Amino acid sequence: MSVKDNLQKLESRIGKACERTGRSADDVHIVAVTKYVSIERAKEAVQAGIGHLGENRLEGAMEKYEAIGSGAEWHFIGSLQSRKVKEMIHAYSYVHSLDRTSLAKEINKRASEGQKMKCFVQVNVSGEESKSGIKPDEVMDFVLSMEKYPAVEIIGLMTMAPYAENPEEVRHYFKHLRELRDKVKDKKLPYAPCTELSMGMSNDFEVAVEEGATYIRIGSILVGE
Ligand SMILES: *Cc1c(COP(=O)(O)O)cnc(C)c1O
Repeated sequence: MSVKDNLQKLESRIGKACERTGRSADDVHIVAVTKYVSIERAKEAVQAGIGHLGENRLEGAMEKYEAIGSGAEWHFIGSLQSRKVKEMIHAYSYVHSLDRTSLAKEINKRASEGQKMKCFVQVNVSGEESKSGIKPDEVMDFVLSMEKYPAVEIIGLMTMAPYAENPEEVRHYFKHLRELRDKVKDKKLPYAPCTELSMGMSNDFEVAVEEGATYIRIGSILVGE
């Protein structure tokens, strides 16, 4: 299937999820996760009109960046080692996996003059051992501590729900993330507007959109696995 055809189907499903909940589809940004696919396929995604590409490791991602460059905005969605920050910071506009102070400190240190990295705080709402992210009850203190790092802008919260055959089973995790996001947003912190929600993957994006996702990270059903 061409990315274009997949995108059409995806947009129609997003549209229906938005209709069900009275949202505007313009508020849902699609990040095409290209970690499984070739440079050619990633280029095809950009040609199909997708403006956001996501990768979860640096290996392979930087080659795609060299080939596509500023044709898209780049999202780092995987766990990020502090020592890798200097390699990625000038290529990426978004980090979805901010989960510790040391990473914020490194981003702040390596950013160029005036650069602001748009960051999502990754939250482990399901409490699964295997998932990274900070605990829900530590989110507020963590965000407040980000004032010290002017190159880090907290634009929202991110989570990965556990895989579920029936995505209804993970709805409560998405709802919980939205409630946490609202609490931070209500503080109106200049360094942490926290208006966005990065949640929803191929298997569960419709439920995530119904619960308020503004960035969905889609790999397999869009570009392939
Ligand atoms: C791989 C990955 C995705 C996309 O997964 P699909 O199920 O293929 O849509 C989304 N988010 C993260 C963090 C990932 O690692």
